[in-house]
Amino acid sequence: MSLIEIQEIAKTYGGIHALDGCTLSFEEGHISGLIGPNGSGKTTLFNVVTGYEQPDSGSVRFDGDAITRLSPDKVFDRGIGRTFQLTRIFPRMNVVENLHVAAQRSGGFRSELSRWSSTSERARAKEVLDFVGLTRLASEMAGNLSYGQQKLLEFACIIIARPRVILLDEPAGGINPTLLRHLASRIRALNDEGITFVVVEHDMEFVMGLCHKVCVMHQGRTLCSGHPDEVRQDPLVLEAYLGTDMREADLTRSGAN
Ligand code: ATP
Repeated sequence: MSLIEIQEIAKTYGGIHALDGCTLSFEEGHISGLIGPNGSGKTTLFNVVTGYEQPDSGSVRFDGDAITRLSPDKVFDRGIGRTFQLTRIFPRMNVVENLHVAAQRSGGFRSELSRWSSTSERARAKEVLDFVGLTRLASEMAGNLSYGQQKLLEFACIIIARPRVILLDEPAGGINPTLLRHLASRIRALNDEGITFVVVEHDMEFVMGLCHKVCVMHQGRTLCSGHPDEVRQDPLVLEAYLGTDMREADLTRSGAN
């Protein structure tokens, strides 16, 4: 069953058609990959789905309800969390304080800030830090963490709100292979608990090894979608990538995550 349904979304910036009638859907319980050459509209699509950008036309439905043009906070309250290409954390706050702020953003916490000091909420923060593997860094300033650890912290800040769907924008970018394997295992574990993922990523081994389905975007539209094995053999996909970046075009490497 489709949890997110995107219908004919268009978004222009000046004369640039970032999204040009984009239609696709993401199934509940899946880890879906969203790939495509640079500038094909992947981040713009995330921005439209999560309310950070308003589409010119088209619609987005979540679990059957229209969410087109809702504000980012309203989309978040519906249960859609996201990360960003450039990590958004508070570098001068420590790791736990970052989680505190993230928890306040969640609808369930917003009016009850004092509850943070309750045993249950601190236990929840500890559980999330244990889960992502940042417990020993709980008191460290977020700005002192490595780039990969900062990405894990941003991930933790989304998890703490218990979303139904998590959209990850280039989670593998700049992360070392060990952290990347760790991140993949955390995504799989959360998916096993029922959380749906959509992952924008250029690292093909990561995408092909992790995702149940891959959607390919090209020039603001969906080029094709399907099982990773089908997509990586699709001549249209290889053609779309050729002439952009040969590393990206190497879709035939086996996924090993
Ligand atoms: P990448 O893989 O490089 O991150 P992408 O597939 O995520 O690319 P987008 O970032 O969505 O692509 O960009 C799609 C097109 O829209 C590009 O031509 C980009 O330059 C343009 N674009 C995106 N956001 C803006 C903006 N705020 N103002 C002007 N143009 C924009």
